Amino acid sequence: MPPVQHCIRVEVRVEGVVQGVGFRPYVHGLARRLGLSGRVGNDTAGVFMEIEGTQQLVSEFLATLPAQAPPLAVIEQVRTSPLVPTGEPGFHIVSSNAAGRPDTLVSADSATCADCLRELADPTDRRFDYPFINCTNCGPRFTIVRDVPYDRPFTTMAPFAMCPACASEYHDPCDRRFHAQPVCCPACGPRLRLLDANGVDLPGGPLATAAALLTGGAVLAVKGLGGFHVATLASHTAATALLRARKHREDKPFAVMVADLTAAHELCVIDPVGERVLTGRRRPVVLLPRRPDTPLAPAVAPGNRNLGVMLPYTPLHHLLLRDTAGPIVLTSGNVSDEPISYQDDDARQRLAGIADAFLTHDRAIHMRTDDSVVRVFRGAELPVRRARGYAPEPLTLAQPAPRPILGCGAELKSTFCLARGRHAFISHHIGDLENYETLRSFTEGITHFRRLFDVQPEVVVHDLHPEYLSTKYAHDLPDVELIGVQHHHAHIASCLADNGAAGPVIGVAFDGLGYGSDGTLWGGEFLLADLAGFQRLAHLVPVPMPGGTAAIRQPWRMAAAYLGSDAPEELAQRHAGRWDAVLAMAHRQVNAPLTSSAGRLFDAVAAVLGIRDTINYEGQAAVELEQRADLTEQGSYPAAVTKGPALQLHGADLVRAVVADLQAGVAPEVISTRFHHGVADAIIRVCVMLRDSTGVGVAALSGGVFQNVLLLERTVAGLEQSGFRVLTHSRVPPNDGGISLGQVAVAGALLRAGSRASRGTGNRQ
Ligand code: ZN
Ligand code: ZN
Ligand code: FE
Repeated sequence: MPPVQHCIRVEVRVEGVVQGVGFRPYVHGLARRLGLSGRVGNDTAGVFMEIEGTQQLVSEFLATLPAQAPPLAVIEQVRTSPLVPTGEPGFHIVSSNAAGRPDTLVSADSATCADCLRELADPTDRRFDYPFINCTNCGPRFTIVRDVPYDRPFTTMAPFAMCPACASEYHDPCDRRFHAQPVCCPACGPRLRLLDANGVDLPGGPLATAAALLTGGAVLAVKGLGGFHVATLASHTAATALLRARKHREDKPFAVMVADLTAAHELCVIDPVGERVLTGRRRPVVLLPRRPDTPLAPAVAPGNRNLGVMLPYTPLHHLLLRDTAGPIVLTSGNVSDEPISYQDDDARQRLAGIADAFLTHDRAIHMRTDDSVVRVFRGAELPVRRARGYAPEPLTLAQPAPRPILGCGAELKSTFCLARGRHAFISHHIGDLENYETLRSFTEGITHFRRLFDVQPEVVVHDLHPEYLSTKYAHDLPDVELIGVQHHHAHIASCLADNGAAGPVIGVAFDGLGYGSDGTLWGGEFLLADLAGFQRLAHLVPVPMPGGTAAIRQPWRMAAAYLGSDAPEELAQRHAGRWDAVLAMAHRQVNAPLTSSAGRLFDAVAAVLGIRDTINYEGQAAVELEQRADLTEQGSYPAAVTKGPALQLHGADLVRAVVADLQAGVAPEVISTRFHHGVADAIIRVCVMLRDSTGVGVAALSGGVFQNVLLLERTVAGLEQSGFRVLTHSRVPPNDGGISLGQVAVAGALLRAGSRASRGTGNRQ
């Protein structure tokens, strides 16, 4: 026993994602390596340990602890306090102390690690070719967790009793699978099945037969981590076209899964940041510039210069890609806008008309989760859809929420957000809250998150739009305090929270539509904002939306509204039957609500250029307008800014410039770029004017329109050149998927300010 007087003993507490990620064996190994004695264990707050040894060794231990932590660990806080040395020899892992309120975090699902991949490919390993191989450093997490604490009986692995070999790995602190809850092997774990459309097992090995079916041009449903995908060979012209027809999905691009980074490089131009995101453990779909002559079928991503690419993230994907002749289309297993299927019976019913066969297994999915989608912007991720691989990791709030808060989000690309203390748990992408299935997914998700993270919301935040199902849901909750937050204020607050900032900023919120404080539809807004409130200082000049929501689906109506009788003859001809009626509607403002939406401005231009007269998915016209832009073009269009109660930005000037160039014979590709530049330049000018009047030199860019990288790049560059500090999104999407976080951030600020009188945010004028 070492002489007591030379030793110190400290208590160390680590909080964050530290359970179920191999943290205790890691601590055990590190302490033993340094010759320290003591103990380590889990409790409801995270991991606790007592470390005893010389001052120098204990310091070395504490310095190394965060630096070499296991890959899935997220350390949020390490606290130490002195203890009296006990002289207890050895270092031990002690049993969990499960009493009290759970305050630990659940990991996101993680792509198969390199060690598991090596075993998967090793014919001498007992998990050779086993499609469910995983370990403490990888595998399913959030999607299989039914309840806390994170322990096998509370996951969908509960029905699988471990065989002796797996059990000994599970109980061995020195093993990579120590306390890996989903640990299993061919002897004891889930099994693959391949069923025909009637649910009958097909003969042969499921994997080999499935790969042969794919190669032969079949449409295959594949059970993944968070739900069913449907897959076809991406080079197969007939199969991809068939998939599109069966899914009733006319234009929206399909994502493609490739075997590895080399295969990804064959399809897309990828910079080092893109490589890092593609190969990272979260494995989102990454939207990348597509190479001109890829061997992909035309139906994969029609008319799209970008391609959504992802790398395999489950062992099953790795095996399937290995055995298939090239990249596969892997798209959500659903019909058009419904949520993704995740239960076997339901999938077989709903996908019966789409898939020829089902590659499935008997490990249940508890939480339905779609693939995440990101773009890459200036060396960082620009999230488009935050779901599998990211949820339910919380964001840390700069200021703790004074009371538990629920943000209900908006309507499209819905998410919710629960906040307790410094943690904001943003849900995975739920979908558009427009049908019963999605609403059920929303309410069940809230129930699940409330239990997992022990948040009982006392304050509930909703959008100002009275007809959103999320607003109605909030109003139906008993015994809570309600706060309404204006949509674009929530957008800017989400950007602030994304950056750990509090404002004030000049917030530029450009999106499709949101309910304004004055009851009109907003969407091209400049707000002087902090978390607690805003002033609408400038906006796009409102124009009528002839036919209301019909104008969203039919961008040509917006061209008519912007141009009236100045519209190009061709456009009027294309819609001759309805043109005059639509013009009259716009002119008299009957069934034509006014909107300052930037999304509708992009729609109008796409229609004028003949790129999109009608759309099949939200934002399609703007997406295709960006895709068409000639990236070598330098020109720009001017737009007037006039003074009123707020500054008025004249979007119509841009549309007229588009028409003039079109009539002068300028190529649509060049016009598209000049229009994008014109919008960016106008934003910069307005921001400079607002800085002059307010003295605020920080700008925050949010709203779905800023998923457009051409616009975003020019706007950020110009603002920075003008001396602004610019905040953009890198953790939550700029689109409505970020609204719930913004709502929570606003509510937290209002509660901290304690201003009961002004609960809810309208316009501060
Ligand atoms: Zn692994
Ligand atoms: Zn086993
Ligand atoms: Fe929005």
